[in-house]
Amino acid sequence: MPLPDPTEKRMEVLTERIGQRDEPSGKRKDYADNLWKNEGDVKESLRDVLRRMAPGILGCCMYCGSTTGSDIEHFEPRESSPLQTFRWTNHLLACGPCNSKYKGTWWECDAETGEPLLIDPTRDDPFAHLFLDLRNGIYRSPTVKGKTTIKVLGLNLDERQFPVARQLARKNAWQVLRNWSRARYDDDKNGMRDALDVLRLYPFADVWQAMLRQAVMPGADIIMRDEPPWALALLRDEELRAATLVEFPVSVIPATNH
Ligand SMILES: [Zn+2]
Repeated sequence: MPLPDPTEKRMEVLTERIGQRDEPSGKRKDYADNLWKNEGDVKESLRDVLRRMAPGILGCCMYCGSTTGSDIEHFEPRESSPLQTFRWTNHLLACGPCNSKYKGTWWECDAETGEPLLIDPTRDDPFAHLFLDLRNGIYRSPTVKGKTTIKVLGLNLDERQFPVARQLARKNAWQVLRNWSRARYDDDKNGMRDALDVLRLYPFADVWQAMLRQAVMPGADIIMRDEPPWALALLRDEELRAATLVEFPVSVIPATNH
């Protein structure tokens, strides 16, 4: 993934330096900690690129989709793996609660495969593990990785208020979708573009992505029977899907697109 050259080079140097420190004594961890605290330019550059990655556009959290993706999160915690402190592929953008309170230093892998038990949107397709019940905003999962992710990050917890927020995001999406359809009928290009921006970039963008996916699933008419009757055909519209469907794992998108 493209990081600015100077940042990439600096991170390679820092990783090499961390690797030269003695690990069993804890010096490696302390050294990595210290570097992480002091490398302000590297962190700024990382944050800038992470913000441009879908669906973290507009700085949303890549775990929960809420508005405040303010922290650079180490997917594999630097506390237990100091060598991962400056590895680009180990960084995500997260909100404060996901980063500190819920995930924190949690880290577990499958005993047999060694695969992390948490969804990483830069390596996994979250929708292979998570199914959103649109009626109540609750995530369900058929996989261990999905179930663990829901639990560790508290994705369905009342205290996080995500189910309510997702239901509002869904209602908002229907309104915006109606606006988009109207703007297309009126040949109002600006109106169409505005609506597409909201659908793609609005917080809890995972709800819109779930709606797009469920609309083309086998049995969609039954799965989405509580949605507005006019909506299913629109969700299957090729123009709309091409403009707003995000493929996973996510990749960096050009800055000029937003
Ligand atoms: Zn979050």
